[in-house]
Amino acid sequence: MGADGLLHVPEVPIIPFIEGDGTGVDIWPAAKLVLDAAAKKHGKEVAWVEVLAGEKAFNETGNWLPEETVESFRDHLIGIKGPLTTPIGGGIRSLNVALRQLLDLYVCLRPVRWFQGVPSPVLHPEAVDMVIFRENTEDIYAGMEAEAGTEEVEKLRTFLREQMGWDVREGSGIGIKPISQMGSKRLIRAAIQYAVDKGRESVTIVHKGNIQKFTEGAFMKWGYELVREEFSDVAVGWDDCGGKPGSKILVKDSIADITLQQVLTRPAEFDVIATTNLNGDYLSDALAAQVGGIGIAPGGNINYMTGHGIFEATHGTAPKYAGQDKVNPGSVLLSGVMMFEHLGWDAAAKDIVTALEATIADKIVTYDFARMMDGATEVKCSEFASAIVDRL
Ligand code: NAP
Repeated sequence: MGADGLLHVPEVPIIPFIEGDGTGVDIWPAAKLVLDAAAKKHGKEVAWVEVLAGEKAFNETGNWLPEETVESFRDHLIGIKGPLTTPIGGGIRSLNVALRQLLDLYVCLRPVRWFQGVPSPVLHPEAVDMVIFRENTEDIYAGMEAEAGTEEVEKLRTFLREQMGWDVREGSGIGIKPISQMGSKRLIRAAIQYAVDKGRESVTIVHKGNIQKFTEGAFMKWGYELVREEFSDVAVGWDDCGGKPGSKILVKDSIADITLQQVLTRPAEFDVIATTNLNGDYLSDALAAQVGGIGIAPGGNINYMTGHGIFEATHGTAPKYAGQDKVNPGSVLLSGVMMFEHLGWDAAAKDIVTALEATIADKIVTYDFARMMDGATEVKCSEFASAIVDRL
């Protein structure tokens, strides 16, 4: 990251990767094949360096997330990862959450769009073209939970009763949901800036502020405040323009429950979405289902201020398929496409998407798509990657 706030990419960037557990052994080599071929076509090259996390790290070092791995991502700014097993009963609740928090990757970026030919359960998947900005560091994911019946929870209950006059029922677990002004504004700032940079029409702030007024409701309020403070030349809030933004980007809001219905029934009304952590989790998986499922849903965890970004397969390790060269490499491959875009390698990124669409249009697909398509040729994970390379 330069003093100018821009990402300066060397001729041959060194990019750390985590292969991932379970099906990581299948999908990472397949994705790498396509990424390398597309980069080469445009005179680019990546110097990949493997770093360890998850089961592979635990087996080799006794540590689920070695410090060297975090340091490598910190030093090289950009990285990519396959799925990781969540250790059960260990000190770390989730390696993914730990990485996001350690590097303060406050945006979880999930573009959701339909690719020509991909089987979908809805009539008009082509109307789905949304980009979700999910807050990644706050909300109930902050890890402040106390278990029912413990000394901790009893202390909290006493405090709440004596200091706040709130009576929490005996036998309750208690979770804390922090939503800060700084955390909300930096997330919504990234979403609006993305809309500006990519020529998008609207940003919808999705929240549950009708019930959770001082967390979810404040998130919305701070979002509108930000539009007035920092983006008044290019964007306008709904109430400030009566829903008629002219040539500016319209910033509007929508309650989380109705949003889950409307993204299905009126997808064309949603463009960029900015939302809190838990809402974003639900929304991104529900949306992914409309455009082909988690086998093809990419994601990136980004800190736009430091330039750090870790791009990742959004699905898990699917252990029952591990090592069978069977599953769809699309999720980690398209995460690589997002990474190339982050590096400014737009032409190579675009080529991969075009070649992927051409492969699916030829009905050459992995099992997950084959079972939803008529007349498809089911191929292995590695064969799917080779077919994409053939079409680059
Ligand atoms: P999962 O691994 O995501 O698998 C659930 C189902 O999704 C699979 O059975 C399969 O469906 C489908 N699927 C997953 N990957 C696919 C791919 N590449 N191509 C096509 N279909 C794919 O979820 P899980 O079984 O609940 O979790 C397994 C482990 O992964 C757990 O340890 C969990 O903690 C971890 N996890 C990690 C991440 C991450 O690292 N980002 C995310 C979620 C879960 P079908 O059986 O219908 O074919």
